[in-house]
Amino acid sequence: MAYDVIVIGSGPGGYVCAIKCAQLGLKTAIVEKRATLGGTCLNIGCIPSKAMLHASEMFHEAETSLEKLGVKVGKPKLDIKAMLAHKDATVKSNVDGVAFLMKKNKVDWLTGTGKVLGEGKVSVTGEDGKEQEIEAKNVVIATGSDVAGIPGVDVDFDEKVIVSSTGALELSKVPGRLVVVGGGVIGLELGSVWKRLGAEVTVVEYLDKVLGPMDGDVSKQFQRLLEKQGIKFNLGAKVTGVKKSGKGAEVTFEPVKGGDAETISADFVLVSTGRKPYTDSLGLEDAGVKLDDRGRVDINDHWQTSVSGIYALGDVVKGPMLAHKAEDEGMAVAEIIAGQHGHVNFDVIPSVVYTDPEVASVGKTEEELKAAGIEYTVGKFPFSANGRARAMLAPDGFIKILADKKTDRVLGVHMLGRGVGEMIHEAAVLMEFGGSSEDLARPCHAHPTMSEAVREAALAAAFGKPIHM
Ligand SMILES: Cc1cc2nc3c(=O)[nH]c(=O)nc-3n(C[C@H](O)[C@H](O)[C@H](O)COP(=O)(O)OP(=O)(O)OC[C@H]3O[C@@H](n4cnc5c(N)ncnc54)[C@H](O)[C@@H]3O)c2cc1C
Repeated sequence: MAYDVIVIGSGPGGYVCAIKCAQLGLKTAIVEKRATLGGTCLNIGCIPSKAMLHASEMFHEAETSLEKLGVKVGKPKLDIKAMLAHKDATVKSNVDGVAFLMKKNKVDWLTGTGKVLGEGKVSVTGEDGKEQEIEAKNVVIATGSDVAGIPGVDVDFDEKVIVSSTGALELSKVPGRLVVVGGGVIGLELGSVWKRLGAEVTVVEYLDKVLGPMDGDVSKQFQRLLEKQGIKFNLGAKVTGVKKSGKGAEVTFEPVKGGDAETISADFVLVSTGRKPYTDSLGLEDAGVKLDDRGRVDINDHWQTSVSGIYALGDVVKGPMLAHKAEDEGMAVAEIIAGQHGHVNFDVIPSVVYTDPEVASVGKTEEELKAAGIEYTVGKFPFSANGRARAMLAPDGFIKILADKKTDRVLGVHMLGRGVGEMIHEAAVLMEFGGSSEDLARPCHAHPTMSEAVREAALAAAFGKPIHM
């Protein structure tokens, strides 16, 4: 059968694109080599990690905070099997949900490895080795990304002792000592999970700050809070070796600026140094689909690859490796294929770290504005001065708003605090409409809410003064 669109890969980019294509009246098929739909995000990424983050946060709350609120439950006991079962059940309900949506939207689901044979042709090879050829007017490559190792270091991921994020979501017991190589989002989220459950966690990071591209203020304060929780950091440290040793492993690193090497041992090592675009077995070279200098599928501003009728999106192309970025691109590509004007505003893509406290950010950081020579005002408000935060024993963190000094247009918003991942969207919507800090300061905010801190920071940016400080 000939399709209007074949999507290869069913992560948030691919499956959203397939649904949107079907909604726009295009006959669509989706090819997935995994047994379940949903890609990295639903199977081994966003969703299982958030299930573990939530469960471990509840455990930690019961251990540390409930008594302060007058709730005596005794010392909580960890049932790791039940916690992992909760995670697995969460994954199942989500991947089943995507399968349901494919059926509902009449998208054909083809299980197997997709290969691009050229303009309008794809082959799908099943696990039994049987290959079928299908035709489509348009092909969308949405094959995502895979774990990247450490440049120049031979890392043997056995997913038992030396693990990637996938193995770190499956540990059957709480490690005594866990070393996390990489102080980015995934490393700090999963490091937090195992720290809360009782592991001694040490993070080794090449840069001299955690959360590399995030606003410097936020990352400094965030690191301090994680240190208060007991996580240890070795920053500015270049890992030169990760090796198994006895029942555990050893990590060797040296100061980036030069100096003596150090080796630390651990029961488990999580290597979370980033992800790389996944283009294996797609046959792109033979099909004439070009890659860029970083191994990503090369696209123009309309997600069109070097071959007419072949598009690419999500983690396999340029831009932040985020599920919601992939989803937005999925919708945009479907609209373009349907002859509409699909568009994604890359200046307003929120980014969240789901630890406790959370980190959330949208737009430019202070460092970026300085580097670009843009004059700006800063409005800041701490949660320690917010009534709701105090009532919830969540006084850590702050809201920071960066606005253009001349026009007051909001250029960046950075948040650190309990649940700020849900609060960042107020800023994102404002920025999408080109709003000013005064626009954020004027609307009535319900009391008592954590969101009042956003308004207070906006008052600080717009008028130089918040009310409650
Ligand atoms: C531990 C972890 C936590 C994360 N947490 C978050 C988070 O909280 N928020 C967030 O925004 N992002 C998060 N991410 C990143 C997020 O998962 C990715 O950005 C997102 O999944 C990218 O979507 P995608 O559709 O481009 O690709 P993917 O989700 O990677 O999906 C690609 C799919 O293509 C399939 N595939 C590949 N090649 C072929 C082929 N030749 N034929 C058929 N199928 C193929 C793969 O099996 C896979 O299912 C996390 C990632 C990890 C690892």
